[in-house]
Amino acid sequence: MDQSKKTDKNFELVIREEASRCLLCHDAPCSKACPAGTNPAKFIRSLRFENPKGAIETIKANNVLGGVCSKVCPSKAYCEGACSRVDLKTPIKIKMLQEYLMELDKTLNVPMLRERKHVDKKVGIVGSGPAGLAAAVELVKEGYNVTVYERDEKLGGYLSYGIPSDRLSQELVDHEINQVKELGVEFKNNTKVENPNDLLSDGFDAVIWACGLHKGKTLNIDGTNLENVEIGVDYLRKVKEDAKNLYAGKNVIVIGGGDVAMDVARTAKLRGAENVNILYRRTENEMPAYIDEKVETKEAGVNIFVKFKPVSIEGNSKVEKATFESLGNDTTITMKCDQYILAISQESERNIEDLVDASKGIFAAGDVVSSDKTVVYAIKSGKEVANKVIEYVNNTCSVKC
Ligand SMILES: Cc1cc2nc3c(=O)[nH]c(=O)nc-3n(C[C@H](O)[C@H](O)[C@H](O)COP(=O)(O)OP(=O)(O)OC[C@H]3O[C@@H](n4cnc5c(N)ncnc54)[C@H](O)[C@@H]3O)c2cc1C
Ligand code: SF4
Repeated sequence: MDQSKKTDKNFELVIREEASRCLLCHDAPCSKACPAGTNPAKFIRSLRFENPKGAIETIKANNVLGGVCSKVCPSKAYCEGACSRVDLKTPIKIKMLQEYLMELDKTLNVPMLRERKHVDKKVGIVGSGPAGLAAAVELVKEGYNVTVYERDEKLGGYLSYGIPSDRLSQELVDHEINQVKELGVEFKNNTKVENPNDLLSDGFDAVIWACGLHKGKTLNIDGTNLENVEIGVDYLRKVKEDAKNLYAGKNVIVIGGGDVAMDVARTAKLRGAENVNILYRRTENEMPAYIDEKVETKEAGVNIFVKFKPVSIEGNSKVEKATFESLGNDTTITMKCDQYILAISQESERNIEDLVDASKGIFAAGDVVSSDKTVVYAIKSGKEVANKVIEYVNNTCSVKC
């Protein structure tokens, strides 16, 4: 949201008008459709009845990353897609209302409530992405001692090292994580955990493995070892860390059809590429990227070619061209390129089944186990796992304590 809108009276009118279109549905479909339980029906009701503080309280009570979600959540797939007003062709702009409220919270500073309970139990969480953060908040609110271990310098997982800054600012990520710190969660950054069992040996009662998917897949074709051939998530990370010293190709090829491929392509364009071509092996309808992402990518001037399979990457030490087979008519094409980026999905660096063992108190959350790979689903998963941990600790306590 444009910062000047914060004080813009006209924008406030737009917000009021939008909230007043809400049908205040009983058993609201929008709320049922939010994986994180953000409860739009309740916060829109408060907003509509001139209680923005109450609206913010509702968001924060259910969703530790309410501001982040208001920027990056594919809401058409969740709350806005389920809104009763969809039938009337104009769903309530829930994401815009949430963004307005979370922006307002920067001035109101509505506290995240926690009960004054104390449970003499320690939970270690490995990974500070949305899943780890959501689990930490649930547990600390219940009075547990929670320590989050993060191998990177910055906290937030892909919020800090993946999603491009033009869609999500580091300031907002840090602001929401600071609120988690204020609740009493302890963070240890620059600290890699090799094995969750190590934390059990150190006296933790349970451990949550929320390490995300950080190993980008590559292709089994010639030329992947050439200079300027890279993995999508590594490229986006380097852009966030040190864009100035990073090679910026003029003719860029991106392989893949998901949201990461769209982010990579748009980022390459923003960094000055003249031609950015996405090549995907199936049809456009089969691309896993959300529809808004595809539209924005095309609007940024990126070309999308479908039903093409990579055959080889060619060049003399550095990439110069790449060959593809058309899956429609068995022909091959060769395209000139000076940067070739593979965004064909990510996997876990470790085999989760070898690590997780609920009988010993080791659980997993987030992208490593979620069906949808989104922030809001990682939050859902973190909250659910926190409840499993509480159940586990209570059960073991009734046996041992
Ligand atoms: C480029 C990109 C764009 C995206 N865009 C969107 C979007 O617009 N909307 C959306 O909803 N979702 C988006 N996503 C997906 C979303 O970011 C993920 O679904 C979400 O971050 C997953 O949360 P997580 O907590 O499971 O894992 P992550 O966010 O991956 O966090 C895991 C953390 O664990 C840490 N870690 C790993 N191993 C260890 C270890 N051994 N010891 C200590 N720490 C460790 C990692 O460093 C990382 O910080 C995007 C993802 C990417 C990559
Ligand atoms: S489903 Fe739509 S109209 Fe109904 S409460 Fe939710 S936002 Fe309002």
